[in-house]
Amino acid sequence: MDGDMDIKSVDKKHIVGTYNRYDVAIVSGSGARCTDDCGREYIDLGSGIGVNSLGYCDKGWVAAVSKQLSTLQHTSNLYYTRPCAELAATLCERSGYAKALFCNSGAEANEAAIKTARKYSFDKYGRGRDVIVTLRNSFHGRTMATLTATGQDVFHNYFFPFNEGFEYADKDIEQIAGIEGVCAVMLEFVQGEGGVIPVEKEFVTELAQLCRERDILLIADEVQTGIGRTGKLLASQHYGVLPDITTLAKGLGAGLPIGAMLVGDRCADTLTFGTHGTTFGGNPVICAGALEVLSRLDDAALEQVRRKGEYIRSRLLSCPGVAGVDGLGMMLGIRLKDKQAAQVLKDCIGEGVLVLTAKEKIRLLPPLTIGDGDLQEGVDRLIAAIEK
Ligand SMILES: *Cc1c(COP(=O)(O)O)cnc(C)c1O
Repeated sequence: MDGDMDIKSVDKKHIVGTYNRYDVAIVSGSGARCTDDCGREYIDLGSGIGVNSLGYCDKGWVAAVSKQLSTLQHTSNLYYTRPCAELAATLCERSGYAKALFCNSGAEANEAAIKTARKYSFDKYGRGRDVIVTLRNSFHGRTMATLTATGQDVFHNYFFPFNEGFEYADKDIEQIAGIEGVCAVMLEFVQGEGGVIPVEKEFVTELAQLCRERDILLIADEVQTGIGRTGKLLASQHYGVLPDITTLAKGLGAGLPIGAMLVGDRCADTLTFGTHGTTFGGNPVICAGALEVLSRLDDAALEQVRRKGEYIRSRLLSCPGVAGVDGLGMMLGIRLKDKQAAQVLKDCIGEGVLVLTAKEKIRLLPPLTIGDGDLQEGVDRLIAAIEK
């Protein structure tokens, strides 16, 4: 292929058509800004779906990754490596968990959580107590088990048969308490793909209590909400609970693929030798980058995430086309009065700002480190698109 190839037509011809891409080919980026193949610049308020937590090509992250890349790129999980061990220790120390398991994506982290819950229950109670309860409107991934776990009917098509042992519930304690044979309840503190909908604190408190009473594992899917996105390292810290299991992915690798499952004392030793594994999990290059992410997200940085989230919220709430803003920290969903989210997104591209949608809302997941100037300009452009 020559340097002048038409990226878009080659992609359309040779990439399996599971994505409906926007008409933009991004070639480079720096901080909160990226540039397309025609030389147009955009302010990115979507961060590659909450992944580029430090923005594009952050200097400290590039240095950490590059150093590790030219030292040792992979060993397999047959051997120890320092970045992997250090990342696990740092995550546990910062979150209050006992142990970590590394994998390569959010769906895989949730698979690990499902397996942990099933085995925890099998070890203590034998077979038959295997139901994973998830909430309606949730999103947990695209593998067969996590697709089944996803509590939205639109996802439960084509790929029959779906997995057994999953039940869906509303945010209703009585309803959940009435389901038989439950080994775990899995939830997002802020439903992301479902439309940026935070769960109520009272529900979480009651759910945590129900789970404790019945020896049911509480699994927090923090694939989107985790790693500072909501203004705390974990969204559970807003709710004052430490779920038995927390899963992480998106923002942890700052652009490289990693998933993690954090387990508390109750199930820290449930998965034993030979019961789970993955070739790429705990890759030292990605772990070195993730360590840089964590070192940057100190209390002061998390405070800035909350402040910047409030700034975005207040700017948008004074905008005539906006009906409301939902979410926590810099995970925000904008309810529109008249315009369709898909149209606003297209108009945003025209204005030079990249955003996301979630259901009927515009969704924002800006880089956590976005500077005030870029943020102000990005929001200006977004408002121009909404009011267009
Ligand atoms: C994105 C997401 C997933 C899936 O993560 P992948 O890395 O795409 O497998 C799972 N749960 C939540 C809450 C997510 O936002």
